[in-house]
Amino acid sequence: MTERIYFDWNATAPLREPARAALARALGQTGNASSVHAEGRAARGLVEAARIQVAQLVGAEARNVTLTSGATEANMLALTPAIETGGRREPRDQLFIASTEHASVRCGGRFPPEMVEEVPVTGDGRVDLSALEHSLTKAERPLVSVMLANNETGVIQPIAEIAAIVHRAGGVLHVDAVQGPGRIDCAIDTLGADMLSISSHKLSGPQGAGALIRRGDIHIAEPLIKGGGQERSLRAGTENVAAIAGFGAAASAAADTWQADARHMAKLRDELEAGIKAAAPQAVIFGEGAERLPNTTLFSVPGMKAETAIIAFDLNGIAVSSGSACSSGKVTASHVLAAMGVELALARGAVRLSLGWSSTMSEVERFLEAWIMLAGSLVKESRGIAA
Ligand code: PMP
Repeated sequence: MTERIYFDWNATAPLREPARAALARALGQTGNASSVHAEGRAARGLVEAARIQVAQLVGAEARNVTLTSGATEANMLALTPAIETGGRREPRDQLFIASTEHASVRCGGRFPPEMVEEVPVTGDGRVDLSALEHSLTKAERPLVSVMLANNETGVIQPIAEIAAIVHRAGGVLHVDAVQGPGRIDCAIDTLGADMLSISSHKLSGPQGAGALIRRGDIHIAEPLIKGGGQERSLRAGTENVAAIAGFGAAASAAADTWQADARHMAKLRDELEAGIKAAAPQAVIFGEGAERLPNTTLFSVPGMKAETAIIAFDLNGIAVSSGSACSSGKVTASHVLAAMGVELALARGAVRLSLGWSSTMSEVERFLEAWIMLAGSLVKESRGIAA
């Protein structure tokens, strides 16, 4: 049997060998990281070593890293009115988010809904900077949350420019950087972000760990989980030592290899996109004109239905994902494509291919063979289905 092809790295990435080894070693370490005895101190050592590795990935200081269960939790921790800068006890009075954010940001975190406002994106998926500038005049102390790169389209936001606008307006900028590590530069200073969320399982670490990383002068005055005082009382609860150790090892590997990996992935992605269009010249690649992650392609062909395509690829041994959200049997356009002004019929066919550092050219070739075989029927078949 031929091996399956996994092209769904943006959903979750395969575990990297150093992460697997660190995870397995840490599972063998008995000890609560808060205990004072030798076992507890050994567990604490693993947590603190991982905190340093995570900090190094984004060029931050380890003491400004809060370890969480993942990026959803990191986003919840960051998105609170109780953000203080430079020791001033003045809460944030409005949250502004881009209209293409992940659900964990779109829900507004710990802000009441009436304090959350969406900022539009342009047709290529990038934040409309003049709309952002205008929105920020409505608040005195805004908190802004914009993702580094979109999980569906791979479109990269101009974070440094956004940071300049936000800071000029007296605001604080949170960046959901989940899809960045291992693919593009995520240095907190280069980005100009005040807070960054990252997730272990998107950078080939284990699921169930993540981090919020702050600049030194940003203080979160409201804990997310109250209890035993772990994580400087921001996030109580016994640490998931093994997942954290695996996260640290994966972060370290990503920091070492991302530039070479990015070049490799971009080559494969370009080949994929050329092959998709060669077999279906009417194919549309979303966000094509914008700067994008080197590993992500979201495409559609008029008349194609994403669910049918995903099942067909799966039956041919290829895991890909949909750019549409399916709720109670009714397929709606992805909010990302809707925000970019993509027509519903085209958005309903959106299929996402996301690659990683271990993807190969022969996998790309096998995908394209399947696409050439399936494209005609996928497009024709779907035309016969009532809208
Ligand atoms: N933000 C983005 C952009 C994501 O892609 C995801 C995961 N799909 C999350 C946040 C949530 O991350 P986690 O799975 O670690 O909670």
